Amino acid sequence: MTPTRETFGNIPHGAVVLFYCLTVATMAVFAWGIWRRFKLWRQGAPIGVRELIAGNFRQICGKLKPGLRRLLTDGLGQKRVRGRGLPSWAHLALFAGFMMLFLGTTLLEIDHLSSGISEALKFHRGTYYVIYEFTLDVFGLLFLAGCILFFWRRTRRPASVGHRATDWYVIISFLAIGISGYLVEGLRMVWQQPTGLAAHCSPVGLWISHGFSGMTEASARSAHQVVWWIHAVLVFGFIASIPFTRLLHIIAGPMNLFFAKPELGRMTPVTMEEVEKTERVGVSAIEHFNQQQLLSLDACMECGRCEEACPAHATDKPLSPKKVVQDLKRLMTLSLSVAAPRKSAAQTPAQESTALSRDAATVQVRALLDETIRAETLWSCTACSACVGVCPVRIDPLTLITDLRRNRVGEGALSGTAATALRRMQSSSNPWGLPAADRPNWSEGLGAPTAKENPSFEVLYWIGCAGSYDRRAQRVARAVVKLLKHAGVNFAILGREEKCTGESARRLGDEFLFQELAQANIATLAKYNVRKILAHCPHCLNSLLKDYSQFGGSYEVIHHTQFISQLIQEGRLNIPSAAGPDSAGAVTYHDPCYLARVNGIHEAPRAVLATALGATNDFREMPRNREKTFCCGAGGGRMWMEEDPKQRVSTVRAKEALATGAKTVAVGCPFCLTMMTDGVAAQNDSARVMDVAEILVERLGI
Ligand code: SF4
Ligand code: SF4
Repeated sequence: MTPTRETFGNIPHGAVVLFYCLTVATMAVFAWGIWRRFKLWRQGAPIGVRELIAGNFRQICGKLKPGLRRLLTDGLGQKRVRGRGLPSWAHLALFAGFMMLFLGTTLLEIDHLSSGISEALKFHRGTYYVIYEFTLDVFGLLFLAGCILFFWRRTRRPASVGHRATDWYVIISFLAIGISGYLVEGLRMVWQQPTGLAAHCSPVGLWISHGFSGMTEASARSAHQVVWWIHAVLVFGFIASIPFTRLLHIIAGPMNLFFAKPELGRMTPVTMEEVEKTERVGVSAIEHFNQQQLLSLDACMECGRCEEACPAHATDKPLSPKKVVQDLKRLMTLSLSVAAPRKSAAQTPAQESTALSRDAATVQVRALLDETIRAETLWSCTACSACVGVCPVRIDPLTLITDLRRNRVGEGALSGTAATALRRMQSSSNPWGLPAADRPNWSEGLGAPTAKENPSFEVLYWIGCAGSYDRRAQRVARAVVKLLKHAGVNFAILGREEKCTGESARRLGDEFLFQELAQANIATLAKYNVRKILAHCPHCLNSLLKDYSQFGGSYEVIHHTQFISQLIQEGRLNIPSAAGPDSAGAVTYHDPCYLARVNGIHEAPRAVLATALGATNDFREMPRNREKTFCCGAGGGRMWMEEDPKQRVSTVRAKEALATGAKTVAVGCPFCLTMMTDGVAAQNDSARVMDVAEILVERLGI
């Protein structure tokens, strides 16, 4: 006999009709719930969905490709979920089981509908049936295993994971769906008595059926109908609850993966026209975010990964990226109930009064935004991108924060040392407020030519404000120049013509100060026809590479560790095999966020260190390294803010570095140099903090 089974076998016709009526009702609740969320997303600034599907087939494919790729790798492939032990395994098992059961149920319905048209169209039989039943049986187990693991994890209430009463409903209903599904199968096998392959292709169902072996066919059929209904009602409940529980991420997560703009370190510019039109900079109300940002709020499943990675949260500052997302989601939901009505030409007094009360409520929501996302929260962010890098559905709390910062800065709400740094950038083109004429003083006696003196340079060395004015960072610039000269590189500097890149100003939220500085620098770089820039500051590097390209300045920008590594490979920097006494001792390397995580540069500094340390190479890796590095605390404009000594990010990172037993902490960023020096000093440790270039210069004895 061909292995198969009848869909709705043992279910009376009336019950099948009721089942379909309930299906329609469930789908209506689901659609209504999603429509309500959709209305919330739609109130944001448009993201050009129509433009995405405009053009010829090839153009549309080109535009859809990145989003579809993210759906495949991060969505179906669960790339960002992997690698975190038990929670990853639990989600992978639940996801794989869920997807397979969903696919199986869809195929079953297609078979049922097509065989209703003609028996010849029935495909749920024979070899297909055997494979289908076996696959679903196995994936059903995976689904249950995932549910049990999540159940166990939730009982332990990890601090970073969100907890809501409905989470228990979701897990228990998932468990009940899985168990009742197997019971339905087991009871069916009691009255159906399949034999051979038809029985053994459902091993779990067969095993359960043995537990009911004492039942008569009639009682098995009755029990089957009861459990079948329980299973069906549970599934209806699950589908209907998706838009109203954490399960919403099943819909919003993949949508966000598709629409997200995932490049780290790139910010959206603001134009003067926009400001004139909207009469504001940045975000002061929930609907000022764009539609993708609002959608992303619903994609958050409160997994807490961002919070665990956040340096501000780790040092007890009033910032959790998860909470920022959840608070904004709460405000977005609130905004639905107070959405201002459409204006009509003639309104009755009653309509006018409703409109007025809604306007008042809208104002209240705006005030709530200021109250919910407090200034201390916004200014605590170091713009390290760790939260963005770890989010499984690519939510970007950093952009939410910088958009809010822009508005507060526009309103003049920034005060203290950071505001002073911005004023100095405006007046003197550097955050210290020192004279532009002093900018090249660090290079005295080194013979570093300016672009004016050496217009035929191969590469322009960008010094940055720290390298120009900070005494400690000046030594890094000097070390780099020594190496360039030693290798015979034809380079130039801008000298007093260089201005601050404006990177800190942009991350702090002062977009127009950044644009002013960027435009001035772009004009200077154009004057000397600069194509290739070498920078030892990852913040300058990122800004020159990703910020400046938005304003017409496109350059090849290379970090000094990359450049030095190339010089070594090309044999232009000759490292003697037996160098002088090695004072470095054990060495560790701190990856700067804007180098390793944001721009993926982490092997070049290690390669240079390996060469510099030579045979005595005692390199010790910190637990958090490369893209998973931990911030030093200086990014996002925090470099210019006072920090409570008990809350210093640099202290946490310095402890991690010193725990390796290192006697030298190598860095590749002037901000990290300052922060790690402070962090090590706070531990009363004698370890040296040095830039990679300085270590190499020491080794070469130049
Ligand atoms: S923002 Fe992303 S990483 Fe953070 S809790 Fe939400 S889903 Fe998890
Ligand atoms: S960018 Fe860094 S500091 Fe800011 S919220 Fe994200 S993880 Fe925290």
